[in-house]
Amino acid sequence: MSVSSASSNQSSNSSTARTVDAVIVGAGFAGLYMLHRLREQGLTAQIFEAGSGAGGTWFWNRYPGARVDVESMQYSYQFSEELQQEWQWSERYAPQAELLEYLNHVVERFGLAPDIQFNTRVESAVFDDSSKTWQVSTDQGDQVNAKYCIMATGCLSKANKPDIAGMDSFNGPTYHTGEWPHEEVDFSGMRVGIIGTGSSAIQAIPEIARQAEHLTVFQRTPNFSVPARNKPLDPEEVKNVKQNYGALREAGQQQFGAFDADSNTKAAAEMSPEEIKAELNKRWQMGGLNFFGVFVDFLVTQETNDIVADFVREKIAERVNDPETAALLAPNTVFGCKRICADTDYFETYNRDNVTLVDISKTAISAITPEGLKVGDGSSEDKAYAFDALVFATGFDAMTGSLNKIDIRGCDGQTLKEKWAAGPLTYLGLCSAGFPNLFTISGPGSPSVFTNMVTSIEQHVEYIGDIIAYMTDNKLATIEASNEAETQWVAHVNEVASYTLLNSCNSWYLGANIPGKKRVFMPYAGGFPPYVAKCNEVAAKGYEGFTLT
Ligand code: NAP
Repeated sequence: MSVSSASSNQSSNSSTARTVDAVIVGAGFAGLYMLHRLREQGLTAQIFEAGSGAGGTWFWNRYPGARVDVESMQYSYQFSEELQQEWQWSERYAPQAELLEYLNHVVERFGLAPDIQFNTRVESAVFDDSSKTWQVSTDQGDQVNAKYCIMATGCLSKANKPDIAGMDSFNGPTYHTGEWPHEEVDFSGMRVGIIGTGSSAIQAIPEIARQAEHLTVFQRTPNFSVPARNKPLDPEEVKNVKQNYGALREAGQQQFGAFDADSNTKAAAEMSPEEIKAELNKRWQMGGLNFFGVFVDFLVTQETNDIVADFVREKIAERVNDPETAALLAPNTVFGCKRICADTDYFETYNRDNVTLVDISKTAISAITPEGLKVGDGSSEDKAYAFDALVFATGFDAMTGSLNKIDIRGCDGQTLKEKWAAGPLTYLGLCSAGFPNLFTISGPGSPSVFTNMVTSIEQHVEYIGDIIAYMTDNKLATIEASNEAETQWVAHVNEVASYTLLNSCNSWYLGANIPGKKRVFMPYAGGFPPYVAKCNEVAAKGYEGFTLT
């Protein structure tokens, strides 16, 4: 085992390469647990993190209203019974600040800080075939050699900043929801424009509207959203969960989304019209992503999906006073084709006098101007809007964006970006052929974004930890996905998606939100339990589909 000199919170600027067993990129849920796990196994590891603190998604996404949409009692680590017993969540869906506090507590509780280097962006990771190590370089001048390189870079980390003419010309402050400043942003007395109506915007809009003098929302595509029904956690309920936490976790792991949601196991066709109505109303009252459990076939049977979509559209019409605005806010896409949002008073916000919705589905934003922006075809007829602040809630270059930002070179100097030019190619979302000992936690090809991310992350971390232990025990130098296994897995991921209605809209699952990005379905839509079964079967067969040397 190699010796670590990695313990530094400062950038080293040293030109001499140091050696650790593993470099981990990112200090969010994935990177932190990976570090803890490897240290428990007696290995040395170094996290590099671009941010000035830990937290990943919850470090960067500080926009007003940001909170998780999987219940906090389940959207939390389960690897430590002590941790899950001692931590107190205050609300059903924790706000960003509390999630960040939780992750900082994890850093402290498990003494992780000495092996995390903040304010450091990994620029390249190059596999050296002669030494069978990864040579990792950072923007702070670090050079580190590591047997393993583990990408804990997150699925939604690279902000999508649209290429609109005059992007940098606006006179006032601009914000991206995924790169929100640390200091408080006060919109009081301001005219604010917000572009986008995805999950981030749906959370931010009600909060900004309460503060700003006027808020104008630019909507290209409306989104389905169900009420989150967030509330303070009942201490009695918390006590009950904690007395039997293991059972809740176990139940969650048996479900498609890796969280316990008391899902209906029937298809709509198996139910009477009265039962269907009762189920829809029950889910609506439960709120949040429990709505996913409405009918087992809502993402595979168009007729069932229509029933659900019609129900939610009716609810939108009830929530918005002005029929014209309500009609604009009603999506005509497949329900769940884009990630369903969970909101608090989102649609009701359009009943406020200080909120205006602008439909840009037919005429795009033609330019950002010093005063605000223009909508139209670029002619002198364009309609101009003036603002004091502009918010981009325009999402992310999902799943591959944060990996492609790093110059990752495997065997024969091939870059991961080149290899993935026509879409990400992985085996189990964990490894890519030609890139030995490189792992992606919740990478494309794994259930990741369709599930409770924390549980999926824990499964990946433990699986990678087991692989590394197996390598150590068997004195192996490299593990690499075989081309054949990878091809079969990618075909399977696509096949599973093709059985669903998920290919029918321009979602980020398909990369369709990024101009020029190849349209390929990226996450594994088969659900958590079959995925875990497959991973376990692969391990039981001596890591079938991997080449070990
Ligand atoms: P998003 O869902 O991709 O939404 C981006 C929005 O910006 C869309 O309305 C999009 O319109 C619009 N947009 C993008 N480029 C544009 C352009 N050039 N002109 C006009 N409009 C443009 O991004 P997000 O809201 O940040 O959410 C991303 C994902 O993060 C979510 O799906 C979810 O998985 C996760 N998230 C979760 C939570 C939570 O747990 N509560 C909160 C926030 C985010 P089009 O639809 O027409 O492309």
